[in-house]
Amino acid sequence: MSSSRTFDLYFANQTETHEPNCSLEHLAEYYGDDIFQRLLNSLLNTNFSKDAATNLWRAAIHHFTPEKTRTNWRSVILDYLLSHTNILSNPRIIEANDLKRMQEEAVTDGLTGLYNQTYLKNQLAEIILEKKQKEGASFSLILFDLDHFKQFNDRCGHLCGDRALDKIGKLICGQLPANVIAARYGGEEFAVILPDANLKQAIDLAEKIRLKIDQTEFEGEDRLDTGKLTISGGIASYPEAGVTSDTLISHADCRLYEAKAFRNSIFPRTDNMRRIQRHSYLNIVEIFNQDSGEFKHSLCSDINQIGILLKSSTPAIIGAQIQLRFPHPFWPNEHQAIGEVKHTRRSGPKGPFLVGIQFQQPEVTFLEEVLPGAQLSFSL
Ligand code: GH3
Ligand code: MG
Ligand code: MG
Repeated sequence: MSSSRTFDLYFANQTETHEPNCSLEHLAEYYGDDIFQRLLNSLLNTNFSKDAATNLWRAAIHHFTPEKTRTNWRSVILDYLLSHTNILSNPRIIEANDLKRMQEEAVTDGLTGLYNQTYLKNQLAEIILEKKQKEGASFSLILFDLDHFKQFNDRCGHLCGDRALDKIGKLICGQLPANVIAARYGGEEFAVILPDANLKQAIDLAEKIRLKIDQTEFEGEDRLDTGKLTISGGIASYPEAGVTSDTLISHADCRLYEAKAFRNSIFPRTDNMRRIQRHSYLNIVEIFNQDSGEFKHSLCSDINQIGILLKSSTPAIIGAQIQLRFPHPFWPNEHQAIGEVKHTRRSGPKGPFLVGIQFQQPEVTFLEEVLPGAQLSFSL
């Protein structure tokens, strides 16, 4: 405040004249009667009323003598730093607890309670410095991005979207070892720094997180075309993928982009995790019902040569052998296959059951007829 210097002079004079109240009135007349309120609230970042601030000011002047001031180390050091050095020029006073809270808020994402992007980037820079000192040291960065989250928001509303983001933040944290930093990187993006993990270990952990989210129910997810809220991830490991924050982030981002071609995927993949792309394909499929001895309708959600995901009005028993019929003309040719139920879960409290079935043997020829020209094999 520009009046600081004038105030200092007033106080200096007061101690000589011992007429503090007189000075106070002069100040109020000169600067306006809210000057004490403005000064105190600006110094302490508080919200005192005009009267309360004026009373405090009056009491402080009454209290003020050079001898008393010297007994308080804070006022002594503050006075010195302010008037004899250029370390401070316009300081504010804040309670330690308030400062701690503000410092925490500055690095925390308000919605999920995870760290924010600023903190993550600082940590990334720090960990790079630390790893550069040690030969052969590695660490990994994972970037996650929710799949089809715009559709989720559009169909379930932003508040429901916010709850899903919060839940996913907690699910991610729940899968992490204690020394791992998780952050909300952006809107529906999360980032994890694994301080000691090589690429293989990072892929394992990212897959664990992907699977956990795949297996968790989310309010409203049955309204998605896929019937399921999922996440994709891209990984960059130091030093192979880069030795600076920017190169590591951009490498992880490229892997994430590749994963988005499949969704519900982590890139890169290890050999034993290569999966074959699933093709969204809404069509009627008939399942043989042992009890009635008849085929019953269900709906194909996606398919590849290894298996099929069905939407069914009834649940299925994991491990059960299922006889499937693909009726013509809905499918290019009448076709039958045997499969085994690998997973089943309900899509929402009142939604259909999603049943994952693996074919007894790969249905390559059939798939080539169904999806002519589709890429049926996949390599990194
Ligand atoms: P993709 O699978 O390709 O990632 O598709 P997407 O729809 O997830 O990606 P896109 O970038 O098109 O949309 C991201 C959406 O995330 C759009 C925006 O409404 C939503 N989003 C971002 N931040 C928030 C947030 O804080 N709360 C909610 N509810 N939604 C958010
Ligand atoms: Mg995104
Ligand atoms: Mg997304």
